[in-house]
Amino acid sequence: MGYKQKYSEIVNLEAVNEFMTERGWQRRSCDTCGRTFFSKPSTKIDVSICGWHKCNKGHYQFCTYSKRKKMLEPVQISSKMSKYFRSVGFELITPRNIANFKGQTDLVIAGVQIFDDVIHHNQKICKDKMFVVQPCVRMQFQPHVESQEGTSTSFVNVCTENMEVNFREHLQLVDHWCTILSKLGLHMNDFIITIRTSVKDWGTGKFSALELFFSYGGLELGDATYLLIPQASRSAISISDIGFGLERIVWAINKTDSYFDTLIPWTANGTREMFDSCRTLALLILCGVQATNKGPGLQFRRFAKVISGKYYGANIYGILRYYFDYWAQFIEPSISRESAIHLARLEIERFVNLKIYKTLKLPSPRDETTETYFNRLVYTYNINIYKLRKAMQDVLPNAENQYISNS
Ligand SMILES: [Zn+2]
Repeated sequence: MGYKQKYSEIVNLEAVNEFMTERGWQRRSCDTCGRTFFSKPSTKIDVSICGWHKCNKGHYQFCTYSKRKKMLEPVQISSKMSKYFRSVGFELITPRNIANFKGQTDLVIAGVQIFDDVIHHNQKICKDKMFVVQPCVRMQFQPHVESQEGTSTSFVNVCTENMEVNFREHLQLVDHWCTILSKLGLHMNDFIITIRTSVKDWGTGKFSALELFFSYGGLELGDATYLLIPQASRSAISISDIGFGLERIVWAINKTDSYFDTLIPWTANGTREMFDSCRTLALLILCGVQATNKGPGLQFRRFAKVISGKYYGANIYGILRYYFDYWAQFIEPSISRESAIHLARLEIERFVNLKIYKTLKLPSPRDETTETYFNRLVYTYNINIYKLRKAMQDVLPNAENQYISNS
């Protein structure tokens, strides 16, 4: 029996339809993209279009829904989820280090990568019911952080991961998510669930996936995907991968004007790009990633360069500490906070030192902070202090000014 035939026998849209109808959802079709989606009969959402951001033009209707009396922190929300999934028989899995050497990507981009050993290294199939709170990095979001709301290069993927479940069992897992989302105050009335089938390839051959996208008042919160992954030396593995973005859930619950409102230090000011770069860099250093020219370390270097070139002079080390503490709530640091900040600082200031060195044709910098470098220049090489200060202004014309103009 061919793979295609097998998949279509296991996964059928009729089963989805039946499941959703039983739970009071109505099937609809999007006027714009033609996709099938589901909504509740009493919803106030415009149901002529689906919840996909390209169809609803990024209109975040949810911000106008009535708010909770008390705001919730990300970790409070993930704890409520963990508690719920534990109560229904799931095991809470320790998240992976963000540097990924076993799968197809340099950095962990989704919780489903806890299965990388099984998918890519022929390890034993794991049948445990798993819930994981996995910090992730997605570099492809970087160009959109500044222009598109609800986007960040790092986020926490809260997900249930299950292997060797049949399609019916997968739909029952979807039911658990509807329950916990409702318990968190995100009512099913305000959701649109869109169906998409796609062809993927994670390095073991092409496979089909059936995805259900959860959109809450215009905001995509997550998706439930059923996969049948081909294997070279054994039959295809079925996976139920249901994952949501914790920070998006946070935004949906708190309904602040901007996604970043609760994701930045209260007393800090600056661009989204600055906060996002510090946030992701903090996750990388917390996981022990070091600056290199390829692999995970290359991303470290890229963020350090952005910070150095555009935001040096702002309180970046304070902001990095803040985000180190944020990630430490979800993933065990593999290095002390101050050692991590020092490594980030060396990399950020390496770019600053190089610029000064090239401009003034001075003795070359070592692997040192700008303070240490200048100290050496002044006390060992007797370089004029005012020349150095002026070079700082000239070399980094935007840093201080840009920061001030945003505050
Ligand atoms: Zn659509």
